[in-house]
Amino acid sequence: MRRSADELNKMRKAGKVVAEMHEATRAALRPGVTTMELNNIAAAVLERRNARSNFLNYNGFPAVICTSPNDMIVHGIPGDYVLQEGDIISVDCGAIIEGYHGDAAYTAGVGEVSKEAQRLMDVTERSLWAGIEQLVKGNRLHEVGRAVQQVAEAAGYGVVREYVGHAIGTAMHESPQVPNYWPGSPGPTLKEGMVFAVEPMINIGGPETFQLEDGWSVVTADQSLSAHFEHTIAVTDNGPEVFTLP
Ligand code: MG
Ligand code: MG
Repeated sequence: MRRSADELNKMRKAGKVVAEMHEATRAALRPGVTTMELNNIAAAVLERRNARSNFLNYNGFPAVICTSPNDMIVHGIPGDYVLQEGDIISVDCGAIIEGYHGDAAYTAGVGEVSKEAQRLMDVTERSLWAGIEQLVKGNRLHEVGRAVQQVAEAAGYGVVREYVGHAIGTAMHESPQVPNYWPGSPGPTLKEGMVFAVEPMINIGGPETFQLEDGWSVVTADQSLSAHFEHTIAVTDNGPEVFTLP
């Protein structure tokens, strides 16, 4: 679906709120902090900016962010988990402004992290940007996944298949999906005004996932570390515009 200039403006605003949630939670990452404290910091940003949460109550999700440490890929529920020196943690944030959604995630280290963990985060972020570069008018959507997959697999990593990116607008998750791998067909042709959340989930080991009994948390089946980066991006006449940058 294509968004009007007015709609894109609202999504720009929602994106800025999400970027602010990133900055605020990132600044709080240190050993001893709980994931619930990160959630509360993000909730304070939403309140200050008069934004609504698209995560809270989404299919019953109980928080405004997802916090997924180490071998957890996505959808971790903030709680009493205490961040440890050397952890990596994915923080996924979303906001609604005037009915329009923003959605973005980052993965960061807590204190000093291993070289392995740092490389995983660097490659995953690089794969996101390789995907974003494909969001140009006239290109086909699944080139995004092809680009993500190339970067991740060249580094020897596994690309998660069961969870994917998505179009976004008046709902957080709209059609079509945005796979992080080549799904065997080129997908829809990109037009100006389309907006997508691109979100590679990359594992040091294999791509297989496992869902925990809480019904949300998704971990790597082989317990290898996983990283997740996401932005909300519009296809414009001037190339991709990332809404969720500060
Ligand atoms: Mg997200
Ligand atoms: Mg998303």
